[in-house]
Amino acid sequence: QSSRLLHPENTVIKTPHSVIGGDQFVMMAGPCSVESADHVMAMAKVAKQRGATVVRGGAFKPRTSPYSFQGLGEAGLQALRAAADANDLDMITEVMDDEHVPMVAKYTDIFQIGARNMQNFSLLKAVGRTQIPVALKRGMSATIDDVLNAAEYIAAGGNHQIMLLERGIRTFDHKYTRNTFDLGAVPVLQKLTHYPVIVDPSHAVGEWDLVTPMAMAGVASGASGMIVEIHDRPTEALSDGPQALKPKTYLKMAQQAFQLHDLM
Ligand code: PEP
Ligand code: MN
Repeated sequence: QSSRLLHPENTVIKTPHSVIGGDQFVMMAGPCSVESADHVMAMAKVAKQRGATVVRGGAFKPRTSPYSFQGLGEAGLQALRAAADANDLDMITEVMDDEHVPMVAKYTDIFQIGARNMQNFSLLKAVGRTQIPVALKRGMSATIDDVLNAAEYIAAGGNHQIMLLERGIRTFDHKYTRNTFDLGAVPVLQKLTHYPVIVDPSHAVGEWDLVTPMAMAGVASGASGMIVEIHDRPTEALSDGPQALKPKTYLKMAQQAFQLHDLM
């Protein structure tokens, strides 16, 4: 049950290198997509340098257009696993289809359910039948109650290792930011549920120069961690280049994020 009333203590999720929902702030960083084995290896090294314990990267990408890069598939999972292992990091990657759950489960430490799949109930049930932690992204038009009900679909299958990700929602104005970062959702979700809440400033704002201030706001909101996209050559990125932090900017942001969290 996701309700705080029925389950007052916080859920704390332990993966090999991370404690999610505990006192430590958890940093997850990496490219939007796994682009090649060498590239994701280099980005994992950068992520690790400033305290990330989880490396991200999509091998199955939910692209708006069917003609855009769709991801490397299982080769991408293998490359991300190798990058995580070489740097003593956990791995998080999106699973888009219930039929892929067994394959992705062979590689990942955390399943990511994308915003577009938040109410893909057959997918939620499929990850709910595993015991692998699930990071459930809020759908772009999902209410708080929709998020909680989606989490309930996972928990109903017996998997209670769930974290909730706020990644921005659609509002009336998305000319200057990709989405509207609903940071009020963080303390609201913490009040209503015992699951850890993670913020994703990258997809929330969509522009790299807006990511650091909103990442700090995410820390200040009380989130248990953040997931952020990084790339050494953003203009050549195969997806989400405009919102990627270059290594130097990421290093500074992450340092500030940990400092701010320590003050809280
Ligand atoms: C992603 O993490 O790269 C992604 C596609 O995120 P979202 O599902 O939040 O759009
Ligand atoms: Mn992305």
